Amino acid sequence: MLRIEGLGHRYGATEALRDIELTVPEGQLLTLVGPSGCGKSTLLRCVAGLIGPSSGRVTLDGVPVAGVPERLGVVFQDYSRSLFPWLTVRDNVALPLRRHGLGRAERHAAAARMLAQVGLEGAERRRPWQLSGGMQQRVALARALVARPSLLLMDEPFGALDARTREDLEDLLLGLHRAEGMTVLLVTHDIDESVYVADRVVVLAPGPGRVRADLPVRLPAERDQIATRGLPEFTELRAAVGRAVREGPEPGAGPGVAAPPRAGVEP
Ligand code: ADP
Ligand code: MG
Repeated sequence: MLRIEGLGHRYGATEALRDIELTVPEGQLLTLVGPSGCGKSTLLRCVAGLIGPSSGRVTLDGVPVAGVPERLGVVFQDYSRSLFPWLTVRDNVALPLRRHGLGRAERHAAAARMLAQVGLEGAERRRPWQLSGGMQQRVALARALVARPSLLLMDEPFGALDARTREDLEDLLLGLHRAEGMTVLLVTHDIDESVYVADRVVVLAPGPGRVRADLPVRLPAERDQIATRGLPEFTELRAAVGRAVREGPEPGAGPGVAAPPRAGVEP
């Protein structure tokens, strides 16, 4: 179980997050949605242990996150920069297993199994740059999952892909989540996507980033791009998420609202 308690983060004078409280049960697929600059990536970086919180804490199964935890997988939007171009697809996927003390043959076998799970059997010996964007993001997903993490963090993973490829990868993620049962935190600014893949949607508000809405997704576990999106429950929830995202800042939210912080500006 993942617990985020009273979490705040500042970049110099910029307050990016304030008092975030979230408890994510094991195996939940939670999407984080909100306008650009509301602190989604900052929250993910705090959970990943890539940056330390300014206040509050993050614990994974009761253990405070300090530095990147072992049982963590991460996928970012920019697949072209996250894979190593000089390594084969197989070696990219096998890389995280080096710290697990497995031999070369075992690493290669695990990478091949994982590549088959993301629909890329036969691509082992190719280089990432020989693959389409969607295939590269499948490789990134395989690499994130090869060490069987209990927590998968994804920051706008499908944002750079065309609509059809994006839908295929959403369904791939759902299938992997069902098979592996890991907890997932997925950041997106696509409201439809935030509902389609999720068990729960958390909406962040900007200036500073706070939780504005926390909505359970009561859709059948089995999702289908056409049928699920046509359900009245889907349409209602999408509208509720959309309203929460678009709502103006709440009154009395503090000085951060009157003067929106600018990136990278120190006092
Ligand atoms: P999101 O991912 O929701 O777009 P971010 O977490 O990237 O939001 O940013 C939240 C706020 O923190 C924004 O105001 C952004 O400008 C600021 N910010 C993000 N990263 C940095 C940084 N490295 N230095 C200074 N300010 C930053
Ligand atoms: Mg971001």
